[in-house]
Amino acid sequence: MDKKRVYTFGNGQAEGKADMRNLLGGKGANLAEMNLIGVPVPPGFTITTEVCSEYYELGKDKVVELLKADVEKAIANIENLMNSKFGDVENPLLVSVRSGARASMPGMMDTILNLGLNDEVVEGLSRKTGRPRFAWDSYRRFVQMYGDVVLGMKPVNKEDIDPFEEIIEKVKEEKGVKLDNELEVEDLKELVKRFKVAVKEQTGQDFPTCAYEQLWGAICAVFRSWMNERAILYRKMEGIPAEWGTAVNVQAMVFGNMGETSGTGVAFTRNPSTGAKGIYGEYLINAQGEDVVAGIRTPQPITKLEQDLPECYKQFMEIAMKLEAHYRDMQDMEFTIENGKLFFLQTRNGKRTAQAALQIACDLVDEGMITPQEAVTRIEAKSLDQLLHPTFDPEALKAGEVIGQALPASPGAAAGKVYFTAEDAKQAHEQGERVVLVRLETSPEDIEGMHASEGILTVRGGMTSHAAVVARGMGTCCVSGCGDIAINEDDKVFELGGHTFHEGDYISLDGSTGKIYKGDIKTMEASVSGNFGRIMDWADQYRKLQVRTNADTPQDAANAV
Ligand code: ADP
Ligand code: MG
Repeated sequence: MDKKRVYTFGNGQAEGKADMRNLLGGKGANLAEMNLIGVPVPPGFTITTEVCSEYYELGKDKVVELLKADVEKAIANIENLMNSKFGDVENPLLVSVRSGARASMPGMMDTILNLGLNDEVVEGLSRKTGRPRFAWDSYRRFVQMYGDVVLGMKPVNKEDIDPFEEIIEKVKEEKGVKLDNELEVEDLKELVKRFKVAVKEQTGQDFPTCAYEQLWGAICAVFRSWMNERAILYRKMEGIPAEWGTAVNVQAMVFGNMGETSGTGVAFTRNPSTGAKGIYGEYLINAQGEDVVAGIRTPQPITKLEQDLPECYKQFMEIAMKLEAHYRDMQDMEFTIENGKLFFLQTRNGKRTAQAALQIACDLVDEGMITPQEAVTRIEAKSLDQLLHPTFDPEALKAGEVIGQALPASPGAAAGKVYFTAEDAKQAHEQGERVVLVRLETSPEDIEGMHASEGILTVRGGMTSHAAVVARGMGTCCVSGCGDIAINEDDKVFELGGHTFHEGDYISLDGSTGKIYKGDIKTMEASVSGNFGRIMDWADQYRKLQVRTNADTPQDAANAV
């Protein structure tokens, strides 16, 4: 039998489920699962990650041929459930085309909304809904997204201006308005017209009018986006293999931009930076898709939805709690309200800080949702390092001036007065000063001075230099190999980033990023709270390994114990 490439979902049924994320991607697997547990989700289908690999092996035409019958059948299924027809003028079905890999790669690949519109369909949509502004707003967004993503209108360089944005600015100027939502129907029509001219000029092609032609273009663009520069870079950073591929999700559109009883938002079931219990998120009334994150208008905190649309809020909270209980972890969700009707568009286990991870794991144990053993496995060991070192006060850091960048040799944040010899550093420390030791490079004689310092900055040496290795051993912040520094150790002076520093002047170092700041930036001690201790106690119960440490000095030995 031929292998299955397309998995449908909708109306409480799904061919996929949560544990099929390798095949369906995280988004597709969870869209299926949400259907199975009775969460309202617009119907759609997922094309598997395996087809992404086939796309790169066989090319576009062959893949379209392989998918054609299944995709047409799956579209017919959506048409049935939505009681509308793809490409029809009077009763059109519009869809979104969304990427979704195994591991979440937020914002790394491209999404297209409102697909299925053309000059006739937009008029039909306008008649059907009685909302011409909504119809034309959707159309102009579609032409823009499709032009950018599928037809390659988006400039490769981020610094270059998107031709569509340029047109929008021009039209707003001509109209004397400031905000996108002040544009009227006639202006939106004008935008679409000029967008299409720009497409023709730049690509030599007409904007596609056939719904299926649009759909195939968009599906293949999602596969292509797997290999775009952003995505490749992100995978490299996160260690995600290129072979995994992305799935494609095609889903009936629901509209948050239908007026004052519509809206869209994103929310977490708990606070992702602190882990505190309670819903946390934002929404916008009368908006679509990315508007919330795009920063065009200021979103409202999610709790205000209770006043705007109380029924929706109640339902939203019930479903959010249901999802958290089902996945037994903090959820990061996307939702849209169309004319007072709530839909979920995505859920996933939310990304969180190390501090939040501890808080959430402990709370979930207390709430009886997970076992202590599971709690331990929920903590990324690497992230705990964040908690064991001082950090800069985020407010104070905003005002800090970066004067140089070198290697992040040993984590933590440090601020203090500059001293150029280990002896001077030690003496200043004994006088109660906070000290940053600045050396061409360190040597074993410097140990005591290094110990007395909040942080160490060296001009030479890499991540394995003496300074770096010793500093890591001591748990002291170190930034190494700052070749931009012009130092005169005899005169006790150095220059960096256009500033001159003498003995006793303040600098600050971030050993986690390698950044060097001018002045005395406030730091905060590592807060190893009760949660950390609890997790560690649990870890002790379940661990199978013994821990040994390497200590060179009496202090090291004491630390190790
Ligand atoms: P990303 O992976 O970058 O979050 P998404 O595919 O989730 O991209 O979609 C981007 C935005 O578009 C999200 O806000 C999502 O909720 C919205 N969106 C996607 N599909 C639909 C749809 N069928 N109806 C309404 N909004 C949608
Ligand atoms: Mg999303």
